[in-house]
Amino acid sequence: MQLNRVGFVGWRGMVGSALMQRMRAEGDFDAIAAPRFFSTSQAGQPGPDTGDGRDRAPLLDAADLDQLAGMDAIVSCQGGDYTEATHGRLRARGWRGYWIDAASTLRLTAGASIVLDPVNRPVIERGLAAGQRDFIGGNCTVSLMLMALDGLFNADLVEWATVMTYQAASGGGAKQMRELLAQMGVAHDAAEGLLADPASSILDIDAAVTGALRSAQLPVAATGGYPLAGSLQPWVDQDLGGGISREEWKGAAEANKILGRGDGNGNGGRGDGNGGGAAIPIESVCVRVGVLRCHSQAFTIKLKRDVPLDEAATIIGEANDWVSVVDNARADSLARLTPAAVTATLDIPVGRLRKLPLNGGGGYLSAFSVGDQLLWGAAEPLRRMLRILREH
Ligand code: NAP
Repeated sequence: MQLNRVGFVGWRGMVGSALMQRMRAEGDFDAIAAPRFFSTSQAGQPGPDTGDGRDRAPLLDAADLDQLAGMDAIVSCQGGDYTEATHGRLRARGWRGYWIDAASTLRLTAGASIVLDPVNRPVIERGLAAGQRDFIGGNCTVSLMLMALDGLFNADLVEWATVMTYQAASGGGAKQMRELLAQMGVAHDAAEGLLADPASSILDIDAAVTGALRSAQLPVAATGGYPLAGSLQPWVDQDLGGGISREEWKGAAEANKILGRGDGNGNGGRGDGNGGGAAIPIESVCVRVGVLRCHSQAFTIKLKRDVPLDEAATIIGEANDWVSVVDNARADSLARLTPAAVTATLDIPVGRLRKLPLNGGGGYLSAFSVGDQLLWGAAEPLRRMLRILREH
């Protein structure tokens, strides 16, 4: 289908910047006759460079419903408050364009599909065929898990899974990344003099750093009120009560909706392709760690049958163009299975694959994966959804 006028809101935020970078790199703007850029705070200022020689048109006001209603599609990386304030009002006035969004607001609504096309293209196609017009990017951790374990889910081999996450500061926004670095600086400054002296006591160094991290002067506003550098935070997102965080709840709810196994609200799977079938129990403990940009996850997977390790590795490694299997050896794991190695790439390495002899059986598999949450975890599924619309 022809998408002449595509509006971009939130393009200068963290997810939006990653989206712009990827769209420029892939020449996506060449196929959009009239990209229009909106801002909630900078209307009238020059828009971004789309990398195709086009003039930088002034930014439009993101609160201007008349302008928005003129778009064939709107891509929003602005956040849930904006979606809340805008999407319903646009629909109420009869706007029938496509709404593509990074925020969680609409993910589990009946009229929306969660998009991760290497994993759930059939779900997206069904949504399009049914006339859906809201296509929403998934939670970053969930999308990265599904890219990594795509082969096992698609072969309907997963009976249940537990996930231990190691989530980067980027998941908390640009301010959290900056503050993490500031905290690292404070920690280093506190120990700098002692570090310069090879004879200094390591316990003195430790005490100086710990004192700095516990000090009231440490900047912690963007890291939830507590240090992240030299520490971790075993709670991500809201407290839903009953001992579970919203991030942990999303692990099962969104993953099953993406897989076409129910609506994510506990209502049963449709069982009509893409794996189909009933919802898969997925339990998580989600932890924020002092990493800048990549989320890592450790999985324990109960397989429906005792698949040999080499077969499981082949199923995982051949599932999509971005996943690869890393040998479960020290050198390979340390070289390839880390945020430092994966950041700013679309690679989804999966390693530490091992059969776990639990309950005397062989149907348990451990795995560890890393992925850039700004790319597959946020921006990439959105730009690919625009491309899917154009292909229709
Ligand atoms: P963000 O970086 O805070 O950007 C959101 C908006 O803040 C920008 O579009 C911009 O809007 C405004 N802004 C104000 N000061 C700015 C500055 N100095 N630099 C850049 N922008 C500034 O938000 P985000 O982390 O990209 O998240 C956007 C949405 O994506 C949220 O709903 C989030 O939940 C979702 N999401 C995030 C991630 C992630 O990894 N962070 C992953 C998946 C989904 P104006 O131009 O209108 O002022």
